[in-house]
Amino acid sequence: MRQKGRFGQYGGFYVPEVLIPALEELEAAFYDHYQDEKFVKELNWFYKHYAGRPTPLYLAKRFSEQVGFNVYLKREDLVHGGAHKLNNTLGQALLAKYMGKSKIIAETGAGQHGLATAMVGALFGMETKIFMGVIDIERQSVNVHKMKLCGAKVISVEGGTGTLKDAINDALRYWTANVTDTFYIFGSTCGPHPYPTVVKHFQSVIGTEAKQQCAEQIGKLPDMIVACVGGGSNALGIFTGFIDDKNVKLIGVEAGGEGVSTGKHAATIVAGKVGILHGAKSYLLQDENGQVLETESVSAGLDYSAVGPEHCQLKDSGRAQYYEAEDEDVLDAFELLSKKEGILPALESSHALAWVMKQKGKLSSDANVIVNLSGRGDKDVSIVEKYRPLMQ
Ligand SMILES: *Cc1c(COP(=O)(O)O)cnc(C)c1O
Repeated sequence: MRQKGRFGQYGGFYVPEVLIPALEELEAAFYDHYQDEKFVKELNWFYKHYAGRPTPLYLAKRFSEQVGFNVYLKREDLVHGGAHKLNNTLGQALLAKYMGKSKIIAETGAGQHGLATAMVGALFGMETKIFMGVIDIERQSVNVHKMKLCGAKVISVEGGTGTLKDAINDALRYWTANVTDTFYIFGSTCGPHPYPTVVKHFQSVIGTEAKQQCAEQIGKLPDMIVACVGGGSNALGIFTGFIDDKNVKLIGVEAGGEGVSTGKHAATIVAGKVGILHGAKSYLLQDENGQVLETESVSAGLDYSAVGPEHCQLKDSGRAQYYEAEDEDVLDAFELLSKKEGILPALESSHALAWVMKQKGKLSSDANVIVNLSGRGDKDVSIVEKYRPLMQ
C-alpha cells in the first residue's frame, strides 16, 4: 500500500488476511480517481443537483443573542436525506461505479448511513444490502422502512448485542466473500485504511464550502469550529477546511455524562483507552480487560465505541480539543435552536450546540463560531417528546 493510513500511532488496517486485497483494490481506485477531472466533475454534479449543495452558512441571530457571540450554522441538515451522510455515500457509490462494481453494502446503527446508502443504491441502480443489528432494526423502524422503500434489502444481524458493532463485523465478513462484484460503503472516518481517508475526503466538501462562505460573509476566518463526534466524519469534514489555519480553534463534542436512560456513556476520545476495533487502532471504550463496552446516548447516531484515528491524533497533538455534552444540556440546545430559529437540529448536532451554549460569558461579543449542523431533528422529535413533553 502506498501509505498505511497511519495517524501517529492510530489507524492502520488490522484485518484478516482475506480482506487485504479488497482494501488494496479500494485504495488504488480511490487514488486513481479522487482528483481525476471526470470523476470530480460528475461528483460535483450530483452534489449540486441531487444533494442540494452548496448548503448555506447561516448566521443564527436570535440564537447568537442568547449566547452573546456570533453563531453561524453550516446547514448540512439541508442536504438531501437530512444529514451530511449523503456527501460520503455519493462519493463512494460513484467510486464503486468507476470500479465496475454492481452491488453495494453498508452497515448502519441508527439507520442514517443505511438510508443514505439505500438512496444512492436507487440513484445508481445498484443492488443494495444494509447490515443492521436486530435491536437497531426494532429501535429504528422508520429508517428501516425508508431503506426498503428505496429498494434496499435490510439484513438483520442477530449476533453479539445486535447493534452497530455487530453489523460492521457481519458486513466485513460478507464483503470478504463477495469482493468481486461488491463495494462496501463505510459510514464514518473509522475502520481499516483507506476508509478514514476516503470518508474524510468526501466529507471535506463541508469545510471547503464553509471557508469560502466565511470569507464572503465575515471577511475573515472564524474563531472556532464546533462539531459533534460519533465516528468523526462530519467533524473532520468541516475541520479539514481550517486545519492549517492555526488560529481557528477546532472543537469536537462527544456524547457524555450519565446518559438519561442507562448511565452508560459514549465519550470515546474523552474517556476511552487505546485499543483496536474494526480494523483500526484508536481510543476505545473498554473495560479493564480490554472488552469493548456498549455505549448509549440520547442520540443513536453518536453511539459508537471507537472513534476515527485522525481525531485521536488531533487530540494528542492538541490541534483539536474534545469535550462531552450531557443529555440534559443536549435537550436544552435542541429546544433553544428550535424556539429561536425555527430549525430543529438533530440530537447529534445538538451536542455541538450544547457545548456552544456553555461558552456564554467566556467569549467576546464579536467572536465568530461556526457550528456544523450535521443533520435535521425531525427524526428525533419523538425522543425529545419522551424526555420533554410539551406542557400545553
Ligand atoms: C451519523 C451522524 C453523526 C455522527 O457521525 P460522524 O461520522 O461522527 O459525523 C452526526 N450527526 C448526524 C446528523 C448523523 O446522522
